[in-house]
Amino acid sequence: MDITVPPEVGELAKQKEKYLHTAAVLDSGASGGSESSIAKTFAAEAVNRVVDRAVQVCGALGVSGDVLLSRYLREVRPFRIYDGPSEVHRWAIGRRAISQRRRAIESGEQPRWQREKETTS
Ligand SMILES: Cc1cc2nc3c(=O)[nH]c(=O)nc-3n(C[C@H](O)[C@H](O)[C@H](O)COP(=O)(O)OP(=O)(O)OC[C@H]3O[C@@H](n4cnc5c(N)ncnc54)[C@H](O)[C@@H]3O)c2cc1C
Repeated sequence: MDITVPPEVGELAKQKEKYLHTAAVLDSGASGGSESSIAKTFAAEAVNRVVDRAVQVCGALGVSGDVLLSRYLREVRPFRIYDGPSEVHRWAIGRRAISQRRRAIESGEQPRWQREKETTS
């Protein structure tokens, strides 16, 4: 029998990677604004997808008051709103990326993401 790992399990692993990366950037002394926004937005949306999928698997039971899942469904939804809604984080990530790129072009320096890409590849 084939056992397929559900994509939601991968999402949780990726989420952990993003938190660890953000922590490393903050530890290095950088502001980590974009990394924090990416980690927060990704985590908020991933946990919503995970709970939504779990509810779907359980059918009507998943939305009944008899199981904890219905509570999780209600409790994870605000993650996409508080501490800045996902839309605002996406906007802030884009704005930072554009201004970082502009500064790099003006100073002739490579932006951090490009330097990191070169050191990891
Ligand atoms: C459970 C809970 C706990 C909270 N705890 C705290 C707390 O402890 N301290 C605190 O200060 N606040 C707290 N908040 C408030 C929270 O930070 C705000 O709800 C959040 O920042 C969104 O602001 P808003 O509700 O005024 O929505 P709005 O700013 O009116 O946004 C509504 C929607 O409009 C869209 N939107 C808004 N701006 C943009 C934009 N620039 N681009 C694209 N789309 C946009 C988004 O889809 C957003 O979801 C809490 C909220 C909740 C639900």
